[in-house]
Amino acid sequence: MGEIKYDNSLAFAKKMDAEDPLAQYKNQFHIPKINGKTQLYFCGNSLGLQPHLTQKYIQEELNDWAHLGVEGHTDAKHPWKPYHEFLTNNMAEIVGAKPEEVVMMNTLTVNLHLMMVSFYQPTNRRRKIIIEKDAFPSDKYAVESQINFHGFDPKADLLLWEPRKENNYYHTEDLEKLLEENLDEVALILIGVPNYYTGQTFDLKKISELGHAHNALVGFDLAHGAGNIQPNLHDSQADFAVWCSYKYLNSGPGSVGGCFVHEKHADNIDLNRFAGWWGHNKETRFNMRQEFDPIRGAEGWQLSNPPILSMAAIRASLDVFKEAGFHNIREKSIKLTGFLEFLLKDLKDIEIITPKNPKERGCQLSVELKSAGKDFFKKLTASGVIADWREPNVIRLAPIPLYNSYEDVFLLVEKIKSLLDEK
Ligand SMILES: *Cc1c(COP(=O)(O)O)cnc(C)c1O
Repeated sequence: MGEIKYDNSLAFAKKMDAEDPLAQYKNQFHIPKINGKTQLYFCGNSLGLQPHLTQKYIQEELNDWAHLGVEGHTDAKHPWKPYHEFLTNNMAEIVGAKPEEVVMMNTLTVNLHLMMVSFYQPTNRRRKIIIEKDAFPSDKYAVESQINFHGFDPKADLLLWEPRKENNYYHTEDLEKLLEENLDEVALILIGVPNYYTGQTFDLKKISELGHAHNALVGFDLAHGAGNIQPNLHDSQADFAVWCSYKYLNSGPGSVGGCFVHEKHADNIDLNRFAGWWGHNKETRFNMRQEFDPIRGAEGWQLSNPPILSMAAIRASLDVFKEAGFHNIREKSIKLTGFLEFLLKDLKDIEIITPKNPKERGCQLSVELKSAGKDFFKKLTASGVIADWREPNVIRLAPIPLYNSYEDVFLLVEKIKSLLDEK
């Protein structure tokens, strides 16, 4: 992709939209309207918008349930028994994994705990966990509670990878240093990719190599990665990853999450795991009296038969991703975020704390307010923008390639500019 020469004008934004092969996808989503006014929605990193297809797919399951009752497990148009399998190929492609490495199940934090049951096996000597300093609270609570559960002390055994003061960026050299300083003591590295607060993304392969070279296992939380960046999970050699489907994956509030277990662990039946019947061999699952015989690969970690209505929403969204092509989505994303950065760059009183290199970020830009405060954000909201505020002074803006246009981005920055001028 050549360098784009951006221009600060509505005409330029409209021209970009006219040339955008994904432009028509905006019409396939419900864009929120408040008091009759269509909103500029930049909050897809928190809750993705609803594809039109979702209602159709969910309605289909409601109809099959109404007409078939329990027979829907085998006779529904998309039978419920193997329903999760209908999601696997599309999901695997988006996160760069083999289908056997991926399963949609439970929710993110639940999956994180299940993965730590298998991949956090502390010993007296090797028992520490590294997370990034500004990790998402749920991840922090989950790892702290796992450390406690094993009888250790999070105060001593939870290590924080800190961003550098001068630019807020995390450096892998510092992660390496942390591993060296705690030689043979780190059991697990768990990193959010991208970091939810600053939007910085990481080289997953490099982090996995670093961890493995120090005999630590490595997992990633892709809550902000799945459907946003291409994490190439299989090639990264990460041991596991988890994510949710309601942010960039547009599958509805609280919808079912995703889980990746690298192929190298697929046959390891000696790993600790919390088991349930949905993880059992499909051939004999309904014999009901068998010893637990886990399915090979990620599916072997399933617990329960899944919520079909939520799975239908995921199937709808993944079909949209499939049709648009994730490669095209990412390509537009880089341009669209580049445009937002170009327009914001020269505004006074704000600073973008997300890295400038497109390879080190997804679509989100985190904007720090230098002097304005939460009032500014409230005014922005009142002017018809849905974005997201993080204490103490950051607005996160996520232009989503499937349903945000270049014109949306231009209009957003016009609003920000006029509110900053007002002060
Ligand atoms: C959104 C998010 C979560 C939310 O977890 P749930 O279990 O889905 O409620 C957890 N971790 C990160 C990094 C997130 O961004």
